[in-house]
Amino acid sequence: MIYLSKDVIQHMLTDGAGRYPEECCGIIFGHIDDNGEKTAEYAESAENGYDKAEKRRRFEITPEIMLKAELTARRKKLDIIGFYHSHPDCEAFPSEFDRTHALPVYSYIIMSVVKGRAVKTKSFVLSAEDMQFSEEKITICNKE
Ligand SMILES: [Zn+2]
Repeated sequence: MIYLSKDVIQHMLTDGAGRYPEECCGIIFGHIDDNGEKTAEYAESAENGYDKAEKRRRFEITPEIMLKAELTARRKKLDIIGFYHSHPDCEAFPSEFDRTHALPVYSYIIMSVVKGRAVKTKSFVLSAEDMQFSEEKITICNKE
């Protein structure tokens, strides 16, 4: 389960629509409790590391951006709990590329953006045992 505040959801949807038809991507900060439940407090857009031709079908968060994100997390006393990206004109399911580039524990939130509008948002977690994704329930909370 991942809890998303309305602000976090709104940030991701705006990013996905705004960067259409390219894939947007970003980093989700928050907390993970002992049962593995996550609460997202804050999301930040990241530049897609791929060149223009590739940005429509894949995303990369570069090591430089990850390092900056680690520092942001430390400053805000949060953890990096996952990543989001969009699938322009494509379903909100992980691609094989997404699967082979994912790490266990983190949430991978995927938004389907059709004709510039985010229409579906899903979250996936990679299993450390079989390295396959399974869907994770998203709960929207009204935290101030
Ligand atoms: Zn993808």
